[in-house]
Amino acid sequence: MPKKRKIRVNFKKNRGKRSRGGHELRQAFEQDNLDQLQSNERVSGKGELTRKRTIIAVENEEDGSEQIPLDVDPERCHIGRVLSIVGSHQCRVQGPDDEVYVCAVRQILRTLSQNNRNAVVAGDRVLFEPAPGLQGMIHRVEPRTGTLGRGSGRSQQLIVANVELAAIVIAAVSPHFKPSLVDRFLISCEKGGVKPLICINKADLVDPREMQPVIGQYANLGYDVFLISAETGAGIDALRARILGRQTVFSGQSGVGKTSLLNSIQPGLGLKTSGVSDDSGKGRHTTRTAVLKRLENGGWVVDTPGIRQLRLWDVIREEVEGFFIEFRPFVRYCRFPDCLHDHEIGCGIKAAVAAGMISTARYESYLKILSDEDE
Ligand code: GDP
Ligand code: ZN
Repeated sequence: MPKKRKIRVNFKKNRGKRSRGGHELRQAFEQDNLDQLQSNERVSGKGELTRKRTIIAVENEEDGSEQIPLDVDPERCHIGRVLSIVGSHQCRVQGPDDEVYVCAVRQILRTLSQNNRNAVVAGDRVLFEPAPGLQGMIHRVEPRTGTLGRGSGRSQQLIVANVELAAIVIAAVSPHFKPSLVDRFLISCEKGGVKPLICINKADLVDPREMQPVIGQYANLGYDVFLISAETGAGIDALRARILGRQTVFSGQSGVGKTSLLNSIQPGLGLKTSGVSDDSGKGRHTTRTAVLKRLENGGWVVDTPGIRQLRLWDVIREEVEGFFIEFRPFVRYCRFPDCLHDHEIGCGIKAAVAAGMISTARYESYLKILSDEDE
């Protein structure tokens, strides 16, 4: 028997402010849903549709995720993939017929997500009910695997879901490579169950030998490193082969050449992320959310906006060391069992750094992450 949990939620009638577009559609759906909801949601307040209601969520025994039973005929729905989020209430969903539907998200899904922004994220697999004019309503989000997230305010913001690989793009020359940004990214990948690929772009601007210490450092830790040039095409074939048939999110500081790189993997894959004024002349046109694009020979690529910093989410100080795999053999030489390898005396990690067995750059990056400092 799957576990069930009662959830009390505020019942928003959702009739007040509306976003532009999809207006009538939403109203129609919601009226529809109100009728259907009464069958499996008990409403308090003497049958009046107000304030609170109780929802029975059913736990998926395999992954512990919770789902609310569908109150729509699944026959009328399709499985789709969320390509991008549009505004705060809608998303573009690719349906099984390869059409792109502009979908609204059921209020109840937004109410149930601890953070409204994560109710539906790019990459999600969803069950949606199509409506005329390539519109639709999302009724269910399938359990997520392989997520990339970051801390934002006092909550976690998921950037993308259901990806296998995450390519962090850095530049061999400029902008300056920030080791702690890369290391935060690696931690974030580990937490989200995504395999990181380190892509060092603009290789044409340096002597490859200069890059050896950085390449060696990450390769020794078991990470895949690609030295590439979007400009000359060097190394692009190998990277393209690696991501073929897979789901890969590309991320990096702006200016590292992520857009050029994506376009050299496949023309049109990279989106202009800055520098283009929109027609209204109100300033720069920038992508602020992740966007999925299909690879011609199979697989998906997710383009994300340039990041300046990546705040980790849900990582406590004592946990940071566990993400630095090369620290593991030396931890047992620390005098104090709760050593944070910072100011403590008799520290096995500091001794290993002094002996050249742990890279100074990685140790400094560890300290920065520990103190939650940015570069
Ligand atoms: P994004 O902000 O990461 O998307 O970076 P862009 O793709 O817009 O590239 C930023 C700048 O770096 C542009 O002027 C590109 O022409 C340049 N650039 C990108 N890739 C390379 C490369 O491999 N070699 C060189 N020399 N310049 C590059
Ligand atoms: Zn220590």
